[in-house]
Amino acid sequence: MSTVTIDRRVFLCGPVAGALVTARAWAQTAPVSAGPADPKLIEDLVAANRVLADQGVVDGYGHVSVRHPADPQRYLMARSIAPEMVTAGDVMEYDLDSNPVDPRGRASYLERFIHGEIYRARPDVTAVVHNHSPSVIPFGVSTAPLRPLYHMSAFLGGGVPVFDIKIAAGQATDMLVRTPALGRALAQTLGPRPVALMRGHGAVVVADSLPRAVFRSVYTEMNARLQAQAMALGGPVTYLDDEEARRAEASVAGTISRPWELWKKKALAR
Ligand SMILES: [Zn+2]
Repeated sequence: MSTVTIDRRVFLCGPVAGALVTARAWAQTAPVSAGPADPKLIEDLVAANRVLADQGVVDGYGHVSVRHPADPQRYLMARSIAPEMVTAGDVMEYDLDSNPVDPRGRASYLERFIHGEIYRARPDVTAVVHNHSPSVIPFGVSTAPLRPLYHMSAFLGGGVPVFDIKIAAGQATDMLVRTPALGRALAQTLGPRPVALMRGHGAVVVADSLPRAVFRSVYTEMNARLQAQAMALGGPVTYLDDEEARRAEASVAGTISRPWELWKKKALAR
């Protein structure tokens, strides 16, 4: 848990008279910027949006964010816009309550709480992707677990949890993670894993870098497609065992810059 979260909890629960009033006034104040981010990181964030679209992971919907390198309590994400159209000027800064620092009339994604609450719960996470990746949907609504079928998706070893928003909310919803409480519930379902499916909705994918979050998103979609094909052939399917998954993930992890540079070059050339 982050230092600031701990500090705030102490502050809100403290015995000082008037603390709650002060806290409310504080909550209504726009968060302070962590300062400009490295243009190279912004370029990577723009590229990540376009690559995810190029690879069929996102369409007009879905979003990707990166934690602000100067302040772990801030993250960067585009305004509400189709990922393929994102440019550097669309990137906004948020605090972990998912309040925009300087909205200037720009609309935010309704489901931005996915990002803020995962960054709060997972100090190890630097990038978050939320998508409606089509091939993963069947695995969120059936009893077939998504499992690593080949070495490129070895990071799925250890299990892929499924978030059921009806259970989290205690009632039927419009399926969107549109509150901090639902974002926290999703982060809880994700736990320490890199990927969680969202029943009847999509998936969330996290990593310690933007390229790795994009890589995992692409190969989660690919694994889901291949797994459905293998299952449709009939008969048992052989998955990577735990040791194979561990070894393959370690091996592939060192090569992610190769596809990333290719994807990025193509995405930014357009
Ligand atoms: Zn969504």
